[in-house]
This record gives sequence, structure tokens and C-alpha cells, in this order.
Amino acid sequence: MSSTLRFQVVGEAFTKKALDVPNSKERPSEFFGKYVFNRQKMFKYLPAKVYRKMCDVIDNGTTLDLQTANEVAAGMKQWAMELGVTHCTHWFQPLTEGTAEKHDGFVEHDWKGGMVEEFTGKELIQQEPDASSFPSGGIRSTFEARGYSAWDPASPVFVIGDTLMIPTVFISYTGEALDYKAPLKKALHAVDRAATEVARYFYPEVNKVVSNLGWEQEYFLVDEGLYAARPDLLMTGRTLMGHDSAKNQQMDDHYFGSIPSRVAAFMKDLEIRALELGIPCKTRHNEVAPNQFELAPIFEETNLAVDHNMLMMSLMRKVARKHGFRCLLHEKPFAGINGSGKHNNWSLSTDTGILLHGPGKTPIDNLRFVTFIVETLMAVYRHNGLLKASIISATNAHRLGANEAPPAIISSFLGKQLSDLLIHLEESSDDEIINLAGKQSFTLDIPQIPELMLDNTDRNRTSPFAFTGNRFEFRAVGSQANCAAAMIVLNTAVAEALADFKERVDARIAAGTEKFKAILQTVREDIKTCKPIHFDGNGYSDEWKAEAKARGLDVESSAPLMLDRYLDPETVAMFTRMHVLSEAELEARSEIKWETYTKKIQIEARIFGDLCLNHIIPVATRYQSQLIDNVHKVKEIFPPSTAAKVSANNLQLIERISEHSSFITENVEKLIDARRVANKIESEREKAIAYHDTVAPLLEAIRYHVDKLELIVDNELWPLPKYREMLFIR
Ligand code: ADP
Ligand code: MG
Repeated sequence: MSSTLRFQVVGEAFTKKALDVPNSKERPSEFFGKYVFNRQKMFKYLPAKVYRKMCDVIDNGTTLDLQTANEVAAGMKQWAMELGVTHCTHWFQPLTEGTAEKHDGFVEHDWKGGMVEEFTGKELIQQEPDASSFPSGGIRSTFEARGYSAWDPASPVFVIGDTLMIPTVFISYTGEALDYKAPLKKALHAVDRAATEVARYFYPEVNKVVSNLGWEQEYFLVDEGLYAARPDLLMTGRTLMGHDSAKNQQMDDHYFGSIPSRVAAFMKDLEIRALELGIPCKTRHNEVAPNQFELAPIFEETNLAVDHNMLMMSLMRKVARKHGFRCLLHEKPFAGINGSGKHNNWSLSTDTGILLHGPGKTPIDNLRFVTFIVETLMAVYRHNGLLKASIISATNAHRLGANEAPPAIISSFLGKQLSDLLIHLEESSDDEIINLAGKQSFTLDIPQIPELMLDNTDRNRTSPFAFTGNRFEFRAVGSQANCAAAMIVLNTAVAEALADFKERVDARIAAGTEKFKAILQTVREDIKTCKPIHFDGNGYSDEWKAEAKARGLDVESSAPLMLDRYLDPETVAMFTRMHVLSEAELEARSEIKWETYTKKIQIEARIFGDLCLNHIIPVATRYQSQLIDNVHKVKEIFPPSTAAKVSANNLQLIERISEHSSFITENVEKLIDARRVANKIESEREKAIAYHDTVAPLLEAIRYHVDKLELIVDNELWPLPKYREMLFIR
């Protein structure tokens, strides 16, 4: 323990070692996907016929028969055993925050007294994990207790350590989804179907539309030694108390700054492992807050990107520990400085290009561009409250609406050029814009938009859903969230908007309107309808809150109430029409979300009460006693008039400590009572509301006084690492 540091920091021991990580002699292109059973490996390890069948399954979603599965499993087993693999597991995403796995060895009796390594198609395709303790929102108790995991061939199998990891969906015996992946796949299928039909208006040869996701993951690193001395970080992922550090991010000197060598070593190690697992890492940099960083891969098909993000988060936690760090994925680990998000860059593409990419080479390309932009806006407009519900959680609630993250109102930033284009389209008449003398001379007077990217460089940071050139960036997603929750809603909503759009266009065509004119008329109608969602101004301003309300956007700011949107009739209608989630599944999901909300705050309140009563108050009292002692001693050696003067400052401190301490003690009592009352409530929704309204505010109120004590009490006595100690990596 050095004199300035009150806690054991493991960092110093790591620095030398970390700096030694040599540059790899291999190039990323050589080790990319080393531990993934990708097409290359399939080609090598599977018979040609089986390889072709697998490609068909992956590309066209055809089903896999058991015979083929057996052959695939045999090839996989051979590949995996060459890597020293002994176990396999189905890897799934239950409605908790993480992933789940249960490992089984490859071993089987050979019935001659020995063992053989075995891995069959059946084990690959389907398992029945004993899943009774995963959240099901009542689905399993109402129906059947069993849960099944089933292989998702669209996301390749990979190896971690000695285990073959098989990405799977997780469903109940009666077919209800118990995870994120199953509805995500349905949502992606829905958007593929709806978008393909609309894309065919412009390009009849289109067969498939793919949804893309490029996530940008923000995170904090803290020295493992300091983390270990913070029970709140350990239990809840965030600091429940702690005064601001004198210096934090006000100098803006961390953002894009040079990366500390210990961190750089961590990043390098992490990237190599991620690349080996087929995650196409590309970008890394310091973020705004001290000790905050970001990493981003190249975008991928959404289902795969979601899996890769889940894998990446677990990899980050693991690799961080190897470097003497703890990786904090919580949305708001430290008060007073920026929190962490996970921007979800989203677009749709065909095999020939991105549908949100503009401008096109031809008027048809331009109309296609405008159509997909406007229908995305329609989706976001109609379901803005639901989109917000998809990203809200007890932890992300600390970030949204704070002046560093998107506000808790969903709106879309388009930039000047695209805004002008939409206004232009809205205001001009059909004849003005379209010359219908024949398809050849079909012209659409859309101003050239090559500066679109330039125009978007101002990147309105306050917008939760910003158009950034060839994609929308959904920025409200929380750093530790499963992106699937947001992607399920967004893709389903866009599918619905496009299906709706097509119905109206087809009706116009059936009534005799020329196709492109019908499209344009429908687009124009929608530009008018979805106008309230478009907002390029400052999302942090109070005027915006008032205006958004006037526009009819969802301005709810209480997390448990935001979740009500999952059960709105429009939501149920959308999800059932698009075959993504049934009403029963939606009800189950809402229950789980409310329950999770409650539990998070419950845990925070418990550990917070414990810290206050067992750590903070005793230390404050001890310091206060020292001061009182001093006052007595001063009295002994000085005449009364001098003694009063000498002790004035201490007397004041003694009083202030008393005031803060009494506030803390009294209110921790209230906190315990509030929990007691809330815990008795039956309904998960009402209970979450009670936690939000009565428990959470007390945490904040008490914290204020704890943080004041931190400033008064002798530094040597203070029992927790302070912000200034945790936030600057040495
Ligand atoms: P920033 O927003 O910080 O400038 P980048 O330009 O590096 O970030 O891009 C962020 C993410 O967006 C990356 O994952 C990138 O691959 C992804 N991205 C780029 N184009 C698209 C697209 N058309 N669809 C989806 N994601 C995309
Ligand atoms: Mg971004």
C-alpha cells in the first residue's frame, strides 16, 4: 500500500507484464475465425453434399433432417477434437441479462468396459436443459415445466477452451419463446418478407432482405484491487455512493486520448481473442469519461451480431481479469460522469446493396431510398413508446435523460439535407415531380444528395435515433443490454410499416394509379403522418420535453410505467400480425421485466443500507469521537476563551457529522420500511412502481449525505475507495 493509496492496487504488478504483450506475427486475416466452425471449416470437414445442404439451411432457412445433422455433428466433432475439445454445450440467451450453458462431455460407454467420444446430430440439434430456474414470467408454470434448446444453424458453432459452443433458441414445451433469440429470428424473418416485397417494386430480382446491426460497446475498466474493496460495485455493478472526483471529465482530455498502456494491452489481448472467435473487431478508443472506453466491430447480419455482442461481453469480463481489471458494463457505474451505452447501428440490405443508402444512381434508387427511410420513421413514430420500453431497465434508467445520453423521449434526427428532401417531396405535386411519359423517361426530381454524409457530421448527439448516412443509429440501448430486445421491436415495427405501406400502394395500383406514382403518393402521405417523430434540435432542452408531449410522443419517465407499452393493443396487434410474439408471451415478458426491475433496486437498497450502517456510520462516529476528544484536550490546556476559538472549527464539524449521520440512520430505517411495504405487493407491475416511487428516491437522498461525510471524514479512515482512486488507471 503506497502512501497516497489506501487500498491494494493490483495494477502496478500488471503494468510491466502487460507492456510485454508482443505484436502477433500472424495477421488478423490469418487467425480470424480460428475457433469457429464457419463455411471454410464446413467445406473441409463435411462431405460435399452435406456442405451444400448446410449452405442451403443457412442461406434459405430450409430445415435440417436428422440424417444430415448426424453428418454435420461428425464433422464438427472431428474439427473440435483436433482443437482438444472434450465437451459441448447449447449456448442460449434466457431472459436474464447473460447467456446460459450446461456442458456435457463427449464421452459414452463403448459397452466393452471403456469409453468412446461421441457427439450425435441429436445432441447438436436439440437438448432439454433443466431450465426451471430461468425466468419465464409464468409461462412454464401455466403450461409445462420443460424447456428446450434448439440449434440455430445461422449462427456458427464455436469453441471456447475445451468446449464446443452451440448457439440455440430456448423455448417451452408448448413452443413459447423463453429467450431473446427465438423472437429475434421471427422478427428478422418478418422484416425480410415485408422488405423484400417492397424492394421488388424497385428491383424485381430481389429475393432476400437482411437486417444489419453494428453495435458500439462502451465500458469502464477499474483496477481489480479497488473493485474488490467496493461491495456496491461487486453486488450491483455501480457505485451507490462516492463524491465526485475534483477532476473528472471537465477537461475533455480522455476522449480519443492516447490509450494507457495497461489498457492497450488489454484491448489487444481482447481483440485477438474476439477475432479468433469470428467477431470482426475494428475500432477501439477512449471514451468521454475517465477510464471509459469503446470498442466496435464491423456490422453483421443482426442475429449473428447479437450473438457476437453477447459473446464479446463475456469475453471482455474474462480478459479484463487476466489484466488485473474489472470490466464494468453497467450503464452508470459512477455518478456525475458519463454512463455507457451501446449504439445499435441498423440498416436493411439486399445482396446488391444497402436499402437506406442514398442517393442512388437512378431516380428509382432515390425513390427506394426515400421509401425505406420514411417507412422506418413510420415504424419509429407508431411505436416510439414501445421502442423506449425495449431499452429501459433499472440500470439504463440512470443514463437516459441525464445530459450525456439520449433523452427519455424517442425521436429521430435526419440532418438538414434529408429533412429538406422530405419537405420537398411533401410539398411538390405528383406532376411536378414525376414525368410519367413512360418508364424510360421516368424522372424523379430529387435533389442530388451526395453531401449527405458531410451534412451528418454534426451528429446530433442528443438524438436517440439518428440517421447517419446509410443507417439509423439507435443510441438509447444500454451498455449491458442484450441488443436483441431493441432489435426485436425495431425490426418488427419496420416490417409492419412496410407491410402496411405495401397494402396502400397496391390498393392505389389496383385503382389504376401508375406504380411509381402510387408509391410516391403513399410516401408523401407517410411523410405527413410521421412528422412528429422528426426532431433535429437539442433533445436535452426542457422546451423539447414540452413540445414532444404536444406532438403526442411518449414522454413517460418512470421505468416501470414505460414497460406498459409492451401490452398496448397496438403492440399486441403488431407482434401477433407479424408472428413474432403472442399476447401470452408479451405478458410473460412484461412480468419478467417488472420483476427484474424490482430485484435490481432491492439488491441496491440492501447493500446500500448495509454500507451505510456498517461502514459509513461507524467510521463517521469514530472520526467524530476523535474530534470530541480533541475539543476536551484543548479545554484542558487553554483558558476557556482561547479554547472556544481553537475548537470552533472542530465543533462545527462535530455538528455537521451529527446532522448527516442522523439523516442517514433515520432514512435507512425508512428505506427498510419502504421495501417491506413494497415486498408485500402481489402484482409485479405495482411492486416495481412502488420500488421506483418509494425505494429508489431514498437511495439518492441518503447518498447525498454519505457523499458529504466523505468530504469531512479523515481520508485515512474512509472505508471505500474514492472516485479519484478508482477513475484514473495507473
Ligand atoms: P461512429 O458512429 O462512432 O462514427 P462508425 O462509423 O465506426 O462509428 O460505425 C459504427 C458502427 O456502425 C460500426 O459497427 C459499423 O460497422 C456500423 N455500420 C456502418 N454502416 C452500417 C450499416 N449500413 N448498417 C449497420 N451498421 C453499420
Ligand atoms: Mg456511433
